[in-house]
Amino acid sequence: MIKITFLGSSYSVPDENHENTHLVISQESQAVLVDCANAPLLRLRKAGVPMENLTDLILTHFHPDHVSGVPLLLMDLWLLGRRRPLNVYALDYTLERVKGMMDLYNWQRWPEFFPVSFHCIPDDEMAPVIERNGLCIYTSPVKHLIPTLGLRIEASRSGQTLAYSCDTEPCEAVVRLADRAQILVHEATGATPGHSSATQAGDIASRACVEALYLVHYNPQGASQLVDEAKAVFPGNVTLMEDFMTFDLA
Ligand SMILES: [Zn+2]
Repeated sequence: MIKITFLGSSYSVPDENHENTHLVISQESQAVLVDCANAPLLRLRKAGVPMENLTDLILTHFHPDHVSGVPLLLMDLWLLGRRRPLNVYALDYTLERVKGMMDLYNWQRWPEFFPVSFHCIPDDEMAPVIERNGLCIYTSPVKHLIPTLGLRIEASRSGQTLAYSCDTEPCEAVVRLADRAQILVHEATGATPGHSSATQAGDIASRACVEALYLVHYNPQGASQLVDEAKAVFPGNVTLMEDFMTFDLA
């Protein structure tokens, strides 16, 4: 069983009940964190994911609401006595900046720091990032203000799929990434450059022929109309994502 937990659902300005959007994909033997908002340790604990299970970190893009928690996560894992390596996957653009950010903390001098392996994700559509233990994660470049990846998360045995647009304008790559998925989680920040409205998210869901749409990365102060807006153009179920919502892929 693959369990996907959204650890946050907000756009870049969080509130008391909505942390910045990030998620964890967990199984018995491994956990993959996707993005790293403010205090990932606390959120992972609350989601019941043991820190020692964390094997991989995928970073979608180098904006503060998606990567600002990286230094704290690495420091906390180190202080908790971690020894096993952590894999970090991102586009070259993101990896360079994450390394630069860690260099500012002089992390090379942290004594007995655990190994961190960086893996560069090519900016190809449907690039396989993780294929292990019945879990397949593919990424495609989407249309944000800086190089950014959307994700397709599949259970290889059943083919059950959750796709995640990440931060993007309406984009054909997301239609293909989410093709016939059970669930599309699409951002609904608003129709501004680099982002999408709920209506646009509904249109993408409709064209990708997904079963259900969840709206994420929205402004929690102005979310009351979003579901209705998406429903006007998408015939399936539409739900507003909330922090700690979970999805099981069999
Ligand atoms: Zn964002």
